[in-house]
Amino acid sequence: MATVREIVTVESGNPVLREKARKVQKIDASLQTLIDDMVATMREAPGVGLAAPQVGAPLRVIVVEAPLDEDDPQSGKVYAIINPEIIKTSPEMEEGEEGCLSIPNWQGSVNRYVWVVVKGVDRQGREFRIRARDYVARIFQHEIDHLDGILFTDRVQDREKIWKIGERNRRQRFSEAVADETVLG
Ligand SMILES: [Zn+2]
Repeated sequence: MATVREIVTVESGNPVLREKARKVQKIDASLQTLIDDMVATMREAPGVGLAAPQVGAPLRVIVVEAPLDEDDPQSGKVYAIINPEIIKTSPEMEEGEEGCLSIPNWQGSVNRYVWVVVKGVDRQGREFRIRARDYVARIFQHEIDHLDGILFTDRVQDREKIWKIGERNRRQRFSEAVADETVLG
């Protein structure tokens, strides 16, 4: 039975989010449990990816539940990748919105490679490579960043490009209210 673990947030002050995670040396029972728990935690949150430091484990492990993509026959499956490494990237980058389970209520616009090739080891110990693009590539880059203590907020280049979800909604409501007042004269 998998256990939903507590997600470490930046507010907690736990330094694990800022440390470089260790390479996994041995795929043992405790690592299998960690992966099962990470998948359960990601789904419960819910999120589309999770890195081991986010549950307090300073190890190079990520899980990604890729959203459906018509062009990717493997989409919709759960990837658990041990010691993931980006070995190739697209020449171009693209801006897109991101949030993070460790930074609740914040979103930002982040530049990422459009596609990446990730090399890693699966939970049976077999080395594999996967090419991901667009949203899935973005998730991989975000999660692998976590293994080096990098958060998406570090990659936001302009303060205007990060916002608190509630505040953006409030701003929208505020402008609607202003519009109403204008009508009322
Ligand atoms: Zn994150």
